[in-house]
Amino acid sequence: TERLVSSAKRDTDLTEASLRPQALAEFIGQEQARANLSVFIQAARSRGEALDHVLFAGPPGLGKTTLAQIMSKELGVGFRATSGPVISKAGDLAALLTNLEDRDVLFIDEIHRLSPAVEEILYPAMEDFQLDLIIGEGPAARSVRIDLAKFTLVAATTRLGLLTTPLRDRFGIPVRLNFYTVEELERVVTRGAGVLGAPINPEGAHEIARRARGTPRIAGRLLRRVRDFAAVAGRDIIDATLADKALNALEVDSEGLDPLDRRYLSCIARTHDGGPVGIDTLAAALSEPRDALEEIVEPYLLQQGFISRTPRGRIVTLKAYKHLGMSGPQRASVPDDDLF
Ligand code: ADP
Repeated sequence: TERLVSSAKRDTDLTEASLRPQALAEFIGQEQARANLSVFIQAARSRGEALDHVLFAGPPGLGKTTLAQIMSKELGVGFRATSGPVISKAGDLAALLTNLEDRDVLFIDEIHRLSPAVEEILYPAMEDFQLDLIIGEGPAARSVRIDLAKFTLVAATTRLGLLTTPLRDRFGIPVRLNFYTVEELERVVTRGAGVLGAPINPEGAHEIARRARGTPRIAGRLLRRVRDFAAVAGRDIIDATLADKALNALEVDSEGLDPLDRRYLSCIARTHDGGPVGIDTLAAALSEPRDALEEIVEPYLLQQGFISRTPRGRIVTLKAYKHLGMSGPQRASVPDDDLF
C-alpha cells in the first residue's frame, strides 16, 4: 500500500519532471536560500570558476534535486546525477569523477548513505580535485594520483545528523530547506495546474495547498489526483468543494494527514497513553521501517506541533488529541513518581 501523501520519490512520479521549475526565478519559496545561491552563482560565473560545493539538507520533496539542476543551468555547466546508495564501490565514484569537465555539477542525492570507503576518496576529490587510487594487489600494488577537473559537488540529504563531521565541513555552502507556507504552495499548485492544463480557482488551489504537508512534491501529487476526480466527475474547474471531496476520498484529512500519520498519532495517544514512546517501539507497532518514520512521517508532525520529542521518546500534544477527537490523556492522574 503506497502512501499518497508520502514525500518519498516513486517511479510513478515520472510526470513530476514536467512540473519542475527550470530557472531560479521560477522556483517558488525558500527566499533566503534562493537569494544566497543567486549571488554565489553570479560570482562564480563572473570569475569563470567552479562554484563552491553545496549541501542541501531538508525533508524529501522540498526541491533539493530541482535546485541542483537549476544551478547547473544557471552556471551554464554540465550536470551529472547519482545517489549515495548507488555508489557501492570506490571505483564507481572514481569513474564518475574522472568523466567530469571543468566546472561541471555532480549531484549526489542521499549523501548520508555513502559507504565509508567511498567517502574516503571523496575528501581529496572535493578538497584538492585529486583522486588517490590503489592499483593492483599485494606487493605489486601501487598508488596513483589523478588530477580531476575543478567540479562542484552538490549534495542532498534528508538526514543532516547522519553526515560525518569531516564530510559536512567540506561543503562551503550549506543550505537548509524548510517546509513551504500554504501561500507558497498555493503558487506551486496554481503553476502546476497551468503546466498540466487543469483549470483551478484560487479556493481550489488553497484547499490542496493547505493539505500538502508543506511539501511541493505532495502538492503536485495531490493536484494530479484531484484533477482525475474532476475529469471523472465531469467538472471543468477545480474548486474548493471538489478538492475537499477528492482529498477526503483519498483519505487525506483536513490537516493533510494520511492514514499512517493518524495511526502513528493514535498509537502514541491511545495505545501508549500519550507517550513517551521510543521510535523502535513505534516502528514495530506500525510495521513501518524506522527510517521512513523519521524521514517522512515525523518531521511534519513535529513542525505542526502534533508531537514533541523528549529524551525518552515521542509524546503527543493537545493538538494531536484534539485532532483525534480525544480530550486528552486517558490515564487516571498518575503521580509523577510512577512514571519513572
Ligand atoms: P527533493 O530532491 O528535495 O526530494 P525535488 O527537487 O525532486 O525534491 O522536488 C519534488 C517535486 O516538487 C518536483 O516535481 C519539483 O518540480 C517540485 N518542486 C519542488 N520545489 C518546488 C518549487 N519551489 N516550486 C515549484 N515546484 C517545486
